[in-house]
Amino acid sequence: MKLTIHGYSTALYATWYFIEELGILFDAGDGVCANLLGKAGKIKHAFISHADRDHLTGLLQFNQLFAGLKPTIYYPKDAGSFPFLNDFFTKFDPHNKGTNWQAIKDKAIFSVKNSIQVEAIENGHVVQPGLLKSLSFKVFETKRKLKSKFVNLNKEELINIKKEHGDHFLTNELKRNILSYSGDTPIEDYERYHNSEILIHEATFMTKEETNTKAFKNKHSSLDEVFKMVANIKIDKLILGHFSSRYDQHEIDNEIKKHIQQYNIKIPVHRIPVGKAVKNILAQEPIN
Ligand SMILES: [Zn+2]
Repeated sequence: MKLTIHGYSTALYATWYFIEELGILFDAGDGVCANLLGKAGKIKHAFISHADRDHLTGLLQFNQLFAGLKPTIYYPKDAGSFPFLNDFFTKFDPHNKGTNWQAIKDKAIFSVKNSIQVEAIENGHVVQPGLLKSLSFKVFETKRKLKSKFVNLNKEELINIKKEHGDHFLTNELKRNILSYSGDTPIEDYERYHNSEILIHEATFMTKEETNTKAFKNKHSSLDEVFKMVANIKIDKLILGHFSSRYDQHEIDNEIKKHIQQYNIKIPVHRIPVGKAVKNILAQEPIN
């Protein structure tokens, strides 16, 4: 499935990614509606990775404009900011009803569309033992494919077998991880994104040493760590975002090119420039 992904992602200011064909929004920082305009009405499922303000302040305007379309907002179950927001929105905009709020657990799976599911995975961005406060997400497409032993049968024979034994006798399930979104997270488990067709990953800092800064209380990834992981797993396309605005864009791009060369990365690598929204990210020229 071809995916049209629009997004903005600059650390501390705002992050959001809209996957148009799937009606999915990952995070809802400032500017979601201002950038997507009427397209924001296509958002049916908004998965919010955690309660840092740069990932949720766009929800107020989204709710005000599109609550009537009954979208669902999913959030980590122990992130108390969301029930508070729900309560506040209800009082602030009492006429805009319809938004569903759904607290989600680690490994929860939601069907968002025919054949499309989203799985939530706890990550270590917010460290509060015993409480689920931050999530990454994986999107799967499930299709049924004719078993190889039946490929030479004609249509009529297939229909008869299906009538007698059912679809599961004829076909195997084919499950593909078509997209993964890291949210804000340190690098934890290389296996998590192995075989993702598209990976959207944060790279707040350039180097691992810088991730220990006091300016950010929660844990983040660095560009060098992301590339080390990407070099060790199979993915088809990489989108990098959530860069800190402390870096100049040339500096970021040069670092990205350096790692692409160092690790001999052959897949297309895209990046969200600091302070800029990008329309149809995958249709833009990759950096390599
Ligand atoms: Zn963030």
